[in-house]
Amino acid sequence: MTIDKFNFAGKNTFVRVDFNVPVDENFNITDDTRIVAAMPTLKKIIADGGRLIIASHMGRPKKNPDPKYSLKHILKHVSECLGVDVKFADDCAKAQEQVAALKDGEALLLENVRFYAEEEGKPRGIEKEDPAYDAAKKELKAAQKEFAKTLASYADVYVNDAFGTAHRKHATTAVMADFFDADHKMFGYLMEKEVVAVEKVLNNSVKPVTAIIGGSKVSSKITIIENLLQKVDNLVIIGGMAYTFVLAKGGKVGNSLCEPDQVDVALAVLKKAEELGVKIVLPVDCLAADKFDNNANTQVVDNNNVPDGWEGMDIGPASAKAMAGIIESSKTILWNGPAGVFEFSNFQAGTKAIATAVANATAKNGAFSLVGGGDSVSAVKQFGFADKVSYVSTGGGALLEAIEGKILPGIAAIKG
Ligand code: AMP
Repeated sequence: MTIDKFNFAGKNTFVRVDFNVPVDENFNITDDTRIVAAMPTLKKIIADGGRLIIASHMGRPKKNPDPKYSLKHILKHVSECLGVDVKFADDCAKAQEQVAALKDGEALLLENVRFYAEEEGKPRGIEKEDPAYDAAKKELKAAQKEFAKTLASYADVYVNDAFGTAHRKHATTAVMADFFDADHKMFGYLMEKEVVAVEKVLNNSVKPVTAIIGGSKVSSKITIIENLLQKVDNLVIIGGMAYTFVLAKGGKVGNSLCEPDQVDVALAVLKKAEELGVKIVLPVDCLAADKFDNNANTQVVDNNNVPDGWEGMDIGPASAKAMAGIIESSKTILWNGPAGVFEFSNFQAGTKAIATAVANATAKNGAFSLVGGGDSVSAVKQFGFADKVSYVSTGGGALLEAIEGKILPGIAAIKG
């Protein structure tokens, strides 16, 4: 079922959202992006005359209840955004009466679902190494099903709009979907957009397809790179991880970030790319610094010959130009990871050049561009490019697992 086709009138509707927003020491919300992002789904259900039951986690509480992580702190803001006086259930697993009292067009926010260890299905206060851990986990997994069943009993329909937790098999993100048939479970609008964007880039892509992978380490992105090699025409490698490739090819990296133990992995990537006909694009020059500092002395040097005592902190102008050419002639683009130490103002030019190229490809070449996963999202937002690309993912870890080629439990639970 899809959310657009469903009429929620009179239906008790359980919506799992991601309201895990940052709050300051006085519990004021410092960034409400996630709350705002869930509004199209919540508003559609209310507008239809549905009876809304909203569930989310917040933080990583270690006990139930943990007032620091109470969703009570965000209740007022959720009400304001939704335009409805949202009620509150102090105990998410004992909300039967409040659910039964809901009228059409009303909404109830459940307390933090992670106040129950059953949500995550992971034993608390007991280390993995403890001999009793496995038995405790087994017991908790059984309890997780019961918890999910209780929450499912509140509703006629289940909607998952929490892409940020789609890579977790938790009670409210995946397990409880089993208690609904295919006609009564669906993605919310936000989750649907994320799923479609990933599909467009990985499986229904228009050629040429270019993936730009940056960031600090090869080791943390290797599963992504291996999966992308099967899907793309060009793989642009930027950021600190490029130096492991430089070393693998016999170049000199100076003091640049580098993982010598990943040289074999880098060589295997280069070999696989050649077999598959994928063009690997590495930086040809870099902006090197004499120390890891925004005010360091700098020089543009050959990326394959970084002098001793210097470290590559950003891609250089020749690399940016060559990469922009490839990006701007692509029809599908995936970007994860910055080109350099973009947190330092003097080493942002490469990341900005990549962002500009992605924006140009989107506007001028009609490319579909997806930016996702941690730092590249901060970079496009910081540099004002967020509305110039096709889609900026809201799910850090979930997006990374999706582009690693993993089936996300939250998606599988709905799609079957
Ligand atoms: P990741 O979390 O793997 O996506 O890496 C992002 C981090 O990589 C950012 O904090 C960047 O500052 C850092 N980074 C990117 N390029 C370099 C580089 N050439 N040297 C050191 N750190 C870098």
